[in-house]
Amino acid sequence: MNLQRKLAILADAAKYDASCASSGTATRDSRDGKGLGSTDSGMGICHSYAPDGRCISLLKILLTNACNYDCLYCINRASSNVPRARFTVEEAVQLTLDFYRRNYIEGLFLSSGIIRSPDYTMEQVVRVAKCLREDHHFRGYIHLKTIPEADDALIAEAGRYADRLSINIEVPTETSLKTLAPEKDVRAIRRTMGRLRLRLDEAQESAGDNRAPRFAPAGQSTQMIVGADAASDQTILQTSANLYGSYRLKRVYYSAFSPIPDASRNLPPRAPPLLREHRLYQADWLMRFYGFDAGEITDPRGDGMLPLDIDPKLAWALRHRERFPLDVNKASREDLLRVPGFGVRTVDRILAARRVTHLRAADLARLHVPRAKALPFIVLADHRPAPMLLDSNRLAALLRPPARQLGFEF
Ligand code: SF4
Repeated sequence: MNLQRKLAILADAAKYDASCASSGTATRDSRDGKGLGSTDSGMGICHSYAPDGRCISLLKILLTNACNYDCLYCINRASSNVPRARFTVEEAVQLTLDFYRRNYIEGLFLSSGIIRSPDYTMEQVVRVAKCLREDHHFRGYIHLKTIPEADDALIAEAGRYADRLSINIEVPTETSLKTLAPEKDVRAIRRTMGRLRLRLDEAQESAGDNRAPRFAPAGQSTQMIVGADAASDQTILQTSANLYGSYRLKRVYYSAFSPIPDASRNLPPRAPPLLREHRLYQADWLMRFYGFDAGEITDPRGDGMLPLDIDPKLAWALRHRERFPLDVNKASREDLLRVPGFGVRTVDRILAARRVTHLRAADLARLHVPRAKALPFIVLADHRPAPMLLDSNRLAALLRPPARQLGFEF
């Protein structure tokens, strides 16, 4: 099999892993000669964000899509009827270098199906990173997928060469993992996350000591598949909160389950709405940057799902109208972060501005605040919401985006 064909197979097989990537755009290309550019991920280039917020292009590939395991939700599972391919270590290294020299990419995201044994697979993955760093002095970004049962020494070596390591938690509950990925062991996954955390802490403690071994300076992340089981958004967010709390993960990525050919009857026939993935990311931000607890983001009296028609912070504010209106010129940072339409930067700019002035309604435009969303919940020097508005049944309807005609789904 030639290298081009291997690349087509192994880049396509890697696209289901969201733990490094932006996702959810429409497929477009310019192969008909009209227009310029493509969003087609067929040849393995994806975009990710560096710790400083910079967008970087990564070559995103699997070392092999052959796998001993049979995780029901995975296109690469042992029983899947897909063409298989495998890069040698030298081929993966050369591809990365060639793409880098042509300025197509700034780094590598490398994962793999599990072949022979977890140790053998991890060793192959590490060899690619080691060869890039030591033989070719590659300074670009490297993100390696970690195999949970792999030996500690291999994990330590992976961290020496990689900027980021990730281990997929896969699904939100242990029960679902047992049903959908019976060969995987949630304890092994969490044990490895714990081992990574310890090594990350050790590396941070010895920062500044040039003799101390380097360990994944961009931290660890994970991916959770959404919609492959019956777990509610509340369960998913609680699992994420536990992962952030226990292992201080940099990110939990949510990947909407996509139906695969010849799927098991244990899987839903249709993908969940992409909007669900988006709402989970918004809720995740509320936990990480806005001081929300996992338990308060979904409606405790509801079915545990986030509403799709409005964002989770607006939904929370509508359920807690007794906490509003809030005086923007006096409220604490913590309370301001709960106002619909106020982002973290907006709140920091409000706190800075109100030291020297009393904020008025006109200042909201300068702060890029969506007025219609925020005004019912706040008091400003020249604004107070109409007395009955906050109690009105119509408020939710007023704030909901207008309904759109849905397309037909065949
Ligand atoms: S171990 Fe990974 S590659 Fe193999 S079937 Fe499971 S999810 Fe797919």
